[in-house]
Amino acid sequence: MEPNRGNDNNQNKKPEGGDRPKNSIVTALLITVVIVLLFSWALNAVEKSQYTQTRYDEFKEAMDSGQLAEVLIRSDRIVYLTKEEAAKDPSMQKACYTGLPAGNVLELADKLEAMGVKVDQEIVEDNSLIMMILSYAVMIGGLFLVMNMLTKRMGSDGMMGGFGKSKAKVYMEKQTGVTFKDVAGQDEAKESLQEIIDFLHNPQKYTAIGAKLPKGALLVGSPGTGKTLLAKAVAGEANVPFFSISGSDFVEMFVGMGASRVRDLFQQAAKVAPCIIFIDEIDAVGRSRDNRFGSNSEQEQTLNQLLSEIDGFEPSKGIVCLAATNRPEILDKALLRPGRFDRRIIVDRPNLQGRLDTLKVHTRKIKLSEDVDLRKIAQATAGAVGADLANLVNEAALRAVRQGRKAVNQEDLLVSFETVIAGTEKKNTVLTDMEKRLVAYHEVGHALVAALEKHSQPVSKITIVPHTSGALGYTMQMPEEEKFLSTADELRTELRTLVGGRAAEQVVFGIQTTGAANDIQRATALARNMVTQYGMSERFGLMTTATVQNQYLDGQAYMDCSQETAAGVDQEVMRLLENAYADAKRILTEKRALLDEISEFLLVKETITGDELMAYINADANRLPEPEDAGEE
Ligand code: ADP
Ligand code: ZN
Repeated sequence: MEPNRGNDNNQNKKPEGGDRPKNSIVTALLITVVIVLLFSWALNAVEKSQYTQTRYDEFKEAMDSGQLAEVLIRSDRIVYLTKEEAAKDPSMQKACYTGLPAGNVLELADKLEAMGVKVDQEIVEDNSLIMMILSYAVMIGGLFLVMNMLTKRMGSDGMMGGFGKSKAKVYMEKQTGVTFKDVAGQDEAKESLQEIIDFLHNPQKYTAIGAKLPKGALLVGSPGTGKTLLAKAVAGEANVPFFSISGSDFVEMFVGMGASRVRDLFQQAAKVAPCIIFIDEIDAVGRSRDNRFGSNSEQEQTLNQLLSEIDGFEPSKGIVCLAATNRPEILDKALLRPGRFDRRIIVDRPNLQGRLDTLKVHTRKIKLSEDVDLRKIAQATAGAVGADLANLVNEAALRAVRQGRKAVNQEDLLVSFETVIAGTEKKNTVLTDMEKRLVAYHEVGHALVAALEKHSQPVSKITIVPHTSGALGYTMQMPEEEKFLSTADELRTELRTLVGGRAAEQVVFGIQTTGAANDIQRATALARNMVTQYGMSERFGLMTTATVQNQYLDGQAYMDCSQETAAGVDQEVMRLLENAYADAKRILTEKRALLDEISEFLLVKETITGDELMAYINADANRLPEPEDAGEE
C-alpha cells in the first residue's frame, strides 16, 4: 500500500565477507558427528536395499519345513536363501535376513548342517570395523580443525600458516569477449579506463617518457551498476586475460590461507602478463585495520599480503589490478595510497539515457514486437541499476515464452517491471469485502492527494490486486522526466501523498489500519532527511545534524549532534508529518464525493490507469462551479 515512485528499488545487498561464525568450534564438532551418522546410515541403507528383512518365525518356519537352501550366520543377523528363491537365482541376491537369536549359535549351525543346508559363518569383517576406523579418522580430522581454529583465535599464525595451501579459487578467462559496446552508459568510467587499455597495449609509450604506470584502479558504485562488467570489458578491449576473485574468497577458514591465495593469484597472473586482475568486493579484505569495524588477524594478514604484492609487481610487466567496492569509506587508507589503488572511478546509477542504452544492449538478442517502446520503460525505471534492467528484460522474455508468443511486447516489459518492483501478482490472497474497501480507499487516497497537487508526479496506475511483496495494493507514480533536484514544495507534496492513504482511512471510516506502516516509515524517513540533511526546517535552518555514511549502499545517515538537538529534530519531524497529514485529510474531506466515486470504480475494476483517474478528476473540476460540491464534510 505505497505510492511507488519506482526509484527506490536498490535493495541489493552484498554479503559482507569476513564475518565468520563465532562458534566455529561447535560447528566443527557438529560436522564431525553428522558425518559419522551419515556414514553409518549410508552403510545400513545399502544393506537394507540388498536383502529383505523378515520375522524370525518366518525363518524358523522355513527351516522346519526344510525349505532353506543356504544360510549365512553373521555377528548380528542370519542371512538366508530359500530353496524357492535359490532355484531362480542361486547367488544371494534375493536373500532375506532376520535377527540372530540369543543363545548358542553353534547349535543352530549344527542343526542346519544336519538338515543339509549350506551354512557359512562370517567373520566380523563387516561394516562395524570400517565404521570404527572411519569415525576415528573423522574425529581426528575434527580435532585438527578445532585446534587450527584455536590457534587462530589466539592470533598465532606460525605453525599452521602453510596448512592446506590450495590453489586460489581464481577464475581466469583468456578472453572475456566483453567490450565497451556491451557496457551501456558509464561514459566517464570508460574514459578513465581507456588509459589503462592504452597502457596495456603499448607500455613502452609510457615508460619511454618516464611516466609511472598506474597499478590499480578502484571501481566504486552501488551493486549491479556494472563494475564487474566494466573490468571484463577493459580486459576484452585490451585483449588480455582476465583474472577475477572475490574479496570474500580470500577470507577463509584457515589462518594464512587468504595470504597464500593472494600470493598464488599474483604468481599466476605474472605468468601470463599482461593481464587484468579483478578483485570484487575488496572491502571484505581491505577494510580498515583499526578495530572499529571489528577486524581480525586473518584479514589483516591477507591485506598485508595484498599490499606487498601490489607494491611488488613491476608495472612494466603489464599487470593492472582493478578492484570493486560499494563501501569505499571503510577501506584501509594504505590501500588507497599513491601507487596502489589511487584512482577512483565512480560507476554511477544510470540516468535516463543510460537506462535506455542498457535496455537496448540487453534487448539486442531478443525478439521485440512492434509496439515496444523502450524509452517508456527507461522513464519508468528511475533509480534502477544495470543488473535490474537486465533482469527486467529477461523476465519479460520469460513471460513471452510462458504465453507462447514469439516476441516480447510492451506489456511483457511493463509487467516484469512491476514484478521486479512489487513482486508478482498474488491472485489467491482473499480479502474480506471490508478489507478490500479499505485498501481501495487507501490507494485512492494516495492517488487523489497526488493528482490534486501541482508539484506531484503524475499517477500512472492504481491497483488493489495483492502482490507477493506483501503490498495489498499500490499506487504507481511515474515522473515525466528525470529529476535530480527536488524542491521543498515537491518534498512536502510527497509527504502529503505518502500519508494520503492513512488520511483516507481516517476520513472515510474513522479507523486506522496496519496497511499504512510502510507509508509511515517512508514519510518519516523523508521528513527526517528534510530536517537533518536538506536544511528545510524552520527550526534548524541550514544546520546539518546527520551525515551519510555509506552512500553507495543504503545511504543510511547517522545523527551527529547533541542529544537535545536530536530531541528537537524529532519534534520538528513530527511537526512536518502532522502538517502533511492535516493537509491530506483536508484535501480528501473537500473531495469526499470524488474519493467515493473513484474508490467504487476501483473496487469494481481492481486496476485503473492514470488516464482513467484524470478523467474523473477533470470531470469533477468541470462540475466545480456548482456550489453544492463544496459543502460536504
Ligand atoms: P556489479 O559488479 O557492479 O555489482 P555487475 O557488473 O556484476 O555489477 O552487473 C551485473 C549485470 O548487470 C551484468 O552482467 C550486466 O548484464 C548488467 N549490467 C550492469 N550494468 C550494465 C551496463 N552499464 N550496461 C549493460 N549491462 C549492465
Ligand atoms: Zn499506502
